[in-house]
Amino acid sequence: MPLSDIKARIAKAEADAGRAPGSVHLIAVSKVQPNERVHAVLSEGHRLFGENRVQEAAGKWPTFREEFPDVRVHLIGPLQTNKTRQAFGLFEAIHSVDRPKLAKTIARIAQEEGHCPDLFIQVNTGEESQKAGILPTDADGFIRECLDMDLPVHGLMCIPPVDEEPSLHFALLAKIAKRNGLKGLSMGMSSDFERAIALGATHVRVGSAIFGERVPG
Ligand SMILES: *Cc1c(COP(=O)(O)O)cnc(C)c1O
Repeated sequence: MPLSDIKARIAKAEADAGRAPGSVHLIAVSKVQPNERVHAVLSEGHRLFGENRVQEAAGKWPTFREEFPDVRVHLIGPLQTNKTRQAFGLFEAIHSVDRPKLAKTIARIAQEEGHCPDLFIQVNTGEESQKAGILPTDADGFIRECLDMDLPVHGLMCIPPVDEEPSLHFALLAKIAKRNGLKGLSMGMSSDFERAIALGATHVRVGSAIFGERVPG
């Protein structure tokens, strides 16, 4: 689907929800997409992208940045602590802060580097054992811990279970953010971003609807 169609759908969802135009940021998820497709979307003027692997992002974004210096790339997949410093050099935001050890590593490297990407805390709203994220019952404490370390916590992120109505998870994430005074909500993907916007998403992560099905590596 053309990028302009996705943007029109976002604008309509914002209006339907009574939200200000432009209040939702579109993260174009470019993981595993051929470089020509990513380049086409850059050439259309889009500047905010999402990647789920540090290694993959390191392989393509430094080159794209030479041509498009104002691009912003967000890490939306898991981060191993030993790749944190590399991630600081690649991403303007990290959406997958999900455990105290990682938060402490980010705080230490932020001190050393003198800057820190915007952070989103990932919440495992479906309490799925195979999925990353802090459990909902531990979220308030972990958010507090991150704020006490002066980390720039921008908001929360979730990936709902595939077989459940995502709106329940979006509503839960919004509730946890609200009671902790956090404004950012990274939620909604190709199949459900309009529902996420209705429930307050500030960042939607849309891949296949923009780029087409991912070509497996
Ligand atoms: C791949 C991915 C997306 C995009 O998924 P689509 O269904 O292709 O829109 C969003 N968020 C995360 C965390 C992802 O890994």
